[in-house]
Amino acid sequence: MNYYSLHRKSPNTTFKTAVKEGLAKDRGIYFPEEINPLSADFFKNIEKYSKEEIAFEAIKQFVGDEIPKTILKKIIKETVSFDFPVVEIENNIGTLELFHGPTMAFKDVGARFMSSCLEYFNLENNEEITVLVATSGDTGGAVANGFLNTKGVKVVILYPSGKVSNIQEKQLTTLGNNITALEVDGTFDDCQEMVKTAFLDDKIKRTLTSANSINVARWLPQMFYFFFAYKQLKNQNKELVFSVPSGNFGNICAAVIANKLGLPIKHFIASTNINNTVENYLENGEYVPKPSKATISNAMDVGNPSNFIRIQELFNNDLNAIKNKFSSFSFDDESTKKAMVSIFKETKYVAEPHGAIGYLGLKKYQLTDNEYGVFLETAHPVKFLDIVESTLPVKIDIPEQIKKVIDKRKVAIRISTYTELKEYLNS
Ligand SMILES: *Cc1c(COP(=O)(O)O)cnc(C)c1O
Repeated sequence: MNYYSLHRKSPNTTFKTAVKEGLAKDRGIYFPEEINPLSADFFKNIEKYSKEEIAFEAIKQFVGDEIPKTILKKIIKETVSFDFPVVEIENNIGTLELFHGPTMAFKDVGARFMSSCLEYFNLENNEEITVLVATSGDTGGAVANGFLNTKGVKVVILYPSGKVSNIQEKQLTTLGNNITALEVDGTFDDCQEMVKTAFLDDKIKRTLTSANSINVARWLPQMFYFFFAYKQLKNQNKELVFSVPSGNFGNICAAVIANKLGLPIKHFIASTNINNTVENYLENGEYVPKPSKATISNAMDVGNPSNFIRIQELFNNDLNAIKNKFSSFSFDDESTKKAMVSIFKETKYVAEPHGAIGYLGLKKYQLTDNEYGVFLETAHPVKFLDIVESTLPVKIDIPEQIKKVIDKRKVAIRISTYTELKEYLNS
């Protein structure tokens, strides 16, 4: 499969190059040249397929012959080796729990798939690639875990000092080996700015790539979730509405791709916190990015979602077509906490802030009797322990995955300027 840059000023390229570069030379993000629907029979018989088989069918055209089938199947098997349950919490509303992976955030799937692809592509040559990534919390842990001991890959993670939770910090600073954590005196925006500068700096002597959802190998496997949910909900005989807590809009964009492949989805809801650039755009037709504002659902504190341009492309840049199938609703911290409380009171389900916003999106949309609403729980409540325990009358048990890192010793290099990042990368 070939990919083109959405800026359309770079030549089209292979899956392999798109994965290795992350971003095209013209700074545009990559998009597949074709999206071919899967057979109607596949959807009709989906309950007969294992999750590995479903994932393989969904992704194979996007990889093409660039990874041999047997190897791609092995990569998928390792990528999806945990559960993706839909838990019904009220009549016709379920939550798709995406937090049963090694770092308990949905980003595990994309990070693991991308690292295995890079490892495979690097087997042929001895070139070393550095994955450079800025994190506000969750990405760092998933990338560190997904890329640990990946041959030919070094990982450098920048995170804002004092602004990630204790658990998140442990997840990204304790693994060692090919993973280095840089603790930045500054905000997440500062970290992101440094990473962007490094990508444009031709004095950096390393080959750099990114591991956020602009990278096609991190973005595309996220469509598996929607197939897995469909398999579990098909016998309800209802039309599915997905509400996706959205920041960079990678996850919800993968849902739109799944739909293009033929997966029956009635409507998409991008639920956000007060960083509501897309909600405004759908309302008045003007896309005006804004600096991000801090919220309790901090993995969605994004003022200029990098994947929205992919969603526009999927709808042929037709605003009315988008609005027919796609809504965006935003909620402030106050309503988020209220939703956490009411979900707990009514159903005993413990939702963390991102999931609670997904739930609110479904409520605002107003499901009909023919529809079944699914909101995604994108992280385990333990990842947002302070907020959850101060909002709900609960004490969260620390899961095994987290216990493993919590007592390990943090190792991080402190930096405060871009020059220090550059010196580190060139040393
Ligand atoms: C990254 C993240 C999101 C946002 O996902 P996007 O694909 O960037 O829209 C939502 N919730 C959690 C917990 C996350 O870590």
